[in-house]
Amino acid sequence: MTEPFTAAEREALAPYFTHLDGPVFALVNLPEVVKGALFARYSRSPKSLRRLFLDEFLTREGRSASPESAGAGVERAEQLYERVFFEFGDDSVAQLGGVHLACERASNLLTKVLEWGRLMAYLEQSTRYIPYDDRPGGRYRYHVPAELEGDLRTRYVEMLDHAFETYRAWLPKLVDYWAARYPRASDDSDAVWRSSVRAKALDTLRGILPAATVSNVGLYGTGQAYENLLLRMRAHPLAEVHRYADLMLVELRKVIPAFVRRVDLPDRGGAWSAYLAETREDTRQVAARLVAETPELRGDVTLTDFDPDGEVKVVAAALYAASDVPDDQLQEIARRMTHDERAAVLAAYVGRRGNRRHRPGRAFERTSYRFDVLTDYGAFRDLQRHRLLTLEWQRLTPRHGYLVPEAVLDAGAGDDWARAMDASAALHDAVEGAVSADVASYAVAMAYRVRFYMEMNAREAMHVIELRTSPQGHPSYRRVCQAMHDLIAERAGHRAIAAAMHFTDHSEVELERLEAERAAERRRARP
Ligand SMILES: Cc1cc2nc3c(=O)[nH]c(=O)nc-3n(C[C@H](O)[C@H](O)[C@H](O)COP(=O)(O)OP(=O)(O)OC[C@H]3O[C@@H](n4cnc5c(N)ncnc54)[C@H](O)[C@@H]3O)c2cc1C
Repeated sequence: MTEPFTAAEREALAPYFTHLDGPVFALVNLPEVVKGALFARYSRSPKSLRRLFLDEFLTREGRSASPESAGAGVERAEQLYERVFFEFGDDSVAQLGGVHLACERASNLLTKVLEWGRLMAYLEQSTRYIPYDDRPGGRYRYHVPAELEGDLRTRYVEMLDHAFETYRAWLPKLVDYWAARYPRASDDSDAVWRSSVRAKALDTLRGILPAATVSNVGLYGTGQAYENLLLRMRAHPLAEVHRYADLMLVELRKVIPAFVRRVDLPDRGGAWSAYLAETREDTRQVAARLVAETPELRGDVTLTDFDPDGEVKVVAAALYAASDVPDDQLQEIARRMTHDERAAVLAAYVGRRGNRRHRPGRAFERTSYRFDVLTDYGAFRDLQRHRLLTLEWQRLTPRHGYLVPEAVLDAGAGDDWARAMDASAALHDAVEGAVSADVASYAVAMAYRVRFYMEMNAREAMHVIELRTSPQGHPSYRRVCQAMHDLIAERAGHRAIAAAMHFTDHSEVELERLEAERAAERRRARP
């Protein structure tokens, strides 16, 4: 059935809807708040969206406006938000509009705050493709915390300048080192080989860069995701995080004002942020009182929790949608099965995976693994990007020691590396003593180790492990994820689940970017 619109109505609708007759269409050239409010009307109106738009949102001015003006129904939409979202607190309405927001020159500590939320998408400048050896505006690319003043600030700037100078001095030498170690193969183009060698040198040296190093991040999220992000940011102890929260709020209010109304109202967002700040501080105090032990010495990756019955439960969950018996009864059936029968269920459920994107279904979410990881901050930064899991980290300090890539020693950079690490630790301690432990983390080089945990179900583990062991990945996180795979098979004894993750790559890779660069070149060459 096609909805009847008059010629005038069709003309009015055309700038805003990608199709005027069919049941599927996209909304374009409209403010986020209007699109969100239109969807919100679905819940209480028998009318179609295009009819609602004509009847309730398209103002007299809107009818005569150009498509670019995008002014249609803003006032009405704002009013609807006021009522539904602000007064009744119907949060789902705030999920109906999104914004692309750029946050530039953010420190690595800040980017981790920005990238914490699960329901957002992020894209960040990479230390692997961008050399940090330039000085735009006469300064290396690092953040100077507003909390530092006087001599300590001068010392901070000197130390960080020195760290960046060490990085800058060694970059061409490391490029030469890798170029000599992996000369260009005759069938590789110069561009492919150069990019791979350069990425390898940048990967090797990133550990010298301090956590204060700045990066550019693109965020895409809904109004609600931004609201949550801003509430967390306003509760954060660092001045840089507060400053960005203020800047973000101003820009978001230009695009989705109704969605972020309550963020800075004292009795709404204010109270919410205060709750977050208070509970964090109280937990720190109680932890300081009750956790006096020194950390045990152990390997980089520990499987701290798993379910010994996990595989049986996954088998039962795999059968659920294909049967008509209750969940717990299926579990008993799976438990009584022979090993071969359970293997047959998993073989059918996992099937023939053509590539790592062919992922089995939600039965793999029936069992979980919790890993405690102690690895360099560089690798942590990358693993923290995974959203469909629970990940929390401890403060970055020099207390857990640092990693030295073998190539750094081999190329003769070992002494400079050690000096940079010592200077970073000394500056950290000075800032911690004079200002605060949180601000001190800016000074810590990314080669230092940080502790964090990752708790994820087997389906997310399959994604993380297969992606992060792929040959083009950084060696630091490849090692972590290879260890996770071994622990699932051997420590948890979930051999069938581990076997299902068969795109896990345990090979040693020499020049990680080489294959990816070759593939990119082949794609570019295609007509
Ligand atoms: C070799 C390599 C190079 C990389 N280079 C860069 C880089 O230069 N810059 C950079 O920013 N990142 C880079 N990344 C990180 C990458 O872009 C992802 O951020 C990271 O892998 C985590 O996200 P994910 O979607 O893979 O997994 P998860 O966040 O763990 O999500 C798991 C799955 O859930 C689904 N999902 C999660 N969130 C969403 C969402 N918002 N919308 C829809 N579906 C979702 C997707 O199916 C996703 O695969 C790189 C990763 C690798 C392996």
